[in-house]
Amino acid sequence: MTTFIELGLSKPCVLALALAGITEPTEIQEKTIPLILAGRDVMASAQTGSGKTAAYALPIIECLEQPEQKPRALVLVPTRELALQVMDQFTRFSKHCQLTAVTLYGGTGYETQTRALKRGVDIIVATPGRLYDHIERKNCDLSQIELFVLDEADRLLDMGFMPQVRKIISRVSKERQTLMFSATIDSRIERIAGDFMDDPTTVRVNPTQVEPKEIAQQVMHVTEFSKDALLAQLIAEHNMTSALVFTRTRRRATWVTDRLRDAGVNAEEIHSDISQSQRERTLEKFREGKFPILVATDVAARGLDVPAISHVINYDLPDSPDDYVHRIGRTGRAGRAGVAFSFVSDEQRHLVRDIEKRIGKTLDPDAQSRRVVPGPRLSKPRRRRVM
Ligand code: AMP
Repeated sequence: MTTFIELGLSKPCVLALALAGITEPTEIQEKTIPLILAGRDVMASAQTGSGKTAAYALPIIECLEQPEQKPRALVLVPTRELALQVMDQFTRFSKHCQLTAVTLYGGTGYETQTRALKRGVDIIVATPGRLYDHIERKNCDLSQIELFVLDEADRLLDMGFMPQVRKIISRVSKERQTLMFSATIDSRIERIAGDFMDDPTTVRVNPTQVEPKEIAQQVMHVTEFSKDALLAQLIAEHNMTSALVFTRTRRRATWVTDRLRDAGVNAEEIHSDISQSQRERTLEKFREGKFPILVATDVAARGLDVPAISHVINYDLPDSPDDYVHRIGRTGRAGRAGVAFSFVSDEQRHLVRDIEKRIGKTLDPDAQSRRVVPGPRLSKPRRRRVM
């Protein structure tokens, strides 16, 4: 077993890791940390849950070493949630040095972010749109960036951020080291690498090792009508204390949350109709275990990292197999076991086949023969004021 010291990290950094309960490198960390420390550009394919954030955050902390309070590392991510998650890991792993970091994302005021930038930061973690606004406002200068990371590059592409990313890169020093992490490396990603990177080394970790290995995945054939009752039944049956329920739309998230509350289950919801500050408060409470069931849409749950999540329930299946993989990756974190249930109606069977192709195995059908007694279904979701 390789140790973090053997990968080239210094003792203080390793100690900070130990304090965070991390003692052994994951495969992606083993493969990328030495390359990054050696100054190479790296293009890595790694899923969420593989330890990919630490794979770049640790060598960045190691390389920056002392605070200089000018931006020297920049991480671009597709969503606010991922920005916060990445920031959380930088904070945990840099306890021993006085490096300062800031997250820049939209949906919230500029003032606090601008103040932090003006005070001086070493590390910026940002979504492209908001970072570009700050550049335009002359709030930050990227000419001294030494390490530049594109995290979840495939998502940045899919979400249409590439034009902004290109503009941002044009402001970053050409002397930089560039790292790119992506769930998949396809021809689009390779083209971006060709444009922005200097002879990158490609690192792939075997997706079957990172992905659903630790996650038991089960499909449950349901009718739309029986979903609510089955959900409440599963939560009770499995005594769930930290579970994430995915719905396809914001309205359905509210619907499901209301039905769970009707059934006496303490549930909260996050989606884009809920303000950023409220979402953060809800997530904090969920992390602290103050309520057991969080109902979310895909966008709101992106980057969500709560190691305690034991179950993911796809109340609605996502259309894309990649979204399925991202969703179930919320459980089975950092080597823990996890369980994912997916409700599948007859019309959605083709989606299951796409998912099975993506993950390279068949999903278990529900072993039990269930008799779900549907609760009374209201014809319209009851209106509830969203905070
Ligand atoms: P990520 O793949 O970056 O989303 O990380 C998933 C989770 O794994 C986070 O909670 C990390 O703090 C945690 N983690 C990162 N590296 C390790 C490691 N070497 N051993 C155990 N947990 C880790």
